[in-house]
Amino acid sequence: MTLFNPAQFRQQFPALANAGVYLDSAATALKPQAVIEATEHYYSLSAGTVHRSQYAAARKLTERYESARAQVASLINAPRPQTIIWTRGTTEAINLVAQSAFRPTLKPGDEIIVSEAEHHANLVPWLMVAEQTGARIVKWPLGPNHLPDMALLPTLLNGKTRLLALGQMSNVTGGCPDLAQAIQLAHAAGALVMVDGAQGVVHCPPDVQALDIDFYAFSGHKLYGPMGIGALYGKPALLEAMPAWQGGGKMLSHVDFNGFTPQPVPWRFEAGTPNVAGVIGLSAALEWLETVDIDAAERWSCSLATLAEEQLQAIPGFRSFRSGESSLLSFDIAGIHHSDVVTLLAESGVAVRAGQHCAQPLMAALGVSGTLRASFAPYNSLQDVDALVRAIHNAITLLAE
Ligand code: PMP
Repeated sequence: MTLFNPAQFRQQFPALANAGVYLDSAATALKPQAVIEATEHYYSLSAGTVHRSQYAAARKLTERYESARAQVASLINAPRPQTIIWTRGTTEAINLVAQSAFRPTLKPGDEIIVSEAEHHANLVPWLMVAEQTGARIVKWPLGPNHLPDMALLPTLLNGKTRLLALGQMSNVTGGCPDLAQAIQLAHAAGALVMVDGAQGVVHCPPDVQALDIDFYAFSGHKLYGPMGIGALYGKPALLEAMPAWQGGGKMLSHVDFNGFTPQPVPWRFEAGTPNVAGVIGLSAALEWLETVDIDAAERWSCSLATLAEEQLQAIPGFRSFRSGESSLLSFDIAGIHHSDVVTLLAESGVAVRAGQHCAQPLMAALGVSGTLRASFAPYNSLQDVDALVRAIHNAITLLAE
């Protein structure tokens, strides 16, 4: 059993020395030394690319690249490594599913249910495919605790529903819907489920088989890995039925002027020279995560958000949009614009995010033009909470003058 020690954990993140008080981990997590070293090592010492060359260095690289699939499969309990497709991130993974699995099969009048809490990455690809096919997007409205209203889901599902698009964790409220229940209801109605794991994966990697998830997407950079790399999991039979979506090198076994024969899954979906450094960095992140007690680390970051929320409650007009005990604390302060506050916080060296967080429909549902969001990670400290609270008090005083 690994013990979680916040002070020791912090030491592994060199960027903390420059980042000031970094409370923007929901946008992207800082990188531990192990990931930085693996990426640097790759660029300093490796030669060649993957799947193309016979020399020893390139073969070794291919083995490393392919074995990282097994690491991702093990993280989310996917049945086999070939169910993991490398993508640029969550956004690309969801677009892949929309264009490859759904564009060829949707018919006019088919329905796609999208929760009102979704990030644009799990809404716009569905709007696009709906426009391309004549399918219809159905909104699953928010209910109590800023979560999609589970009581409404059965009333939205019907024989025309082809897909439910649902986030594992909101990037605004931190709310985690009951995935098991939503998936069960969707499946009972004959619909598939696309789970956006961009926020959720770092807090609670799912068991895709136990939850019976059809498609799951996440980004490496929110999981302490590099930017520009992510993964899509799909159930084997679903992936097998999907055509290639981008054409180019290495996604085919034969091509002539009459057509091409695609590679088996997952290579069929990986056209062109891939992000090898990204895969190696993500692999290092996953290896490093095995040394971390994720549950204890999560409890620590959530406790910091709770402390900050308790202290900020004293501010007149403070309103929290935090769902449950999440490590994300979205809030606003009546009469003060979030962008004014965030500018002053930036001047105090406190990095938080303000605005709509790529979730405009959610902002509309919450009845706000935007929020401030302090997102805590296990490398944050009690001093970070103090700095945030102090900086907000100072900002309010300045703005009141
Ligand atoms: N979904 C959610 C809930 C997110 O928070 C994000 C990133 N902000 C995304 C999807 C998109 O991830 P990426 O930009 O890494 O593709």
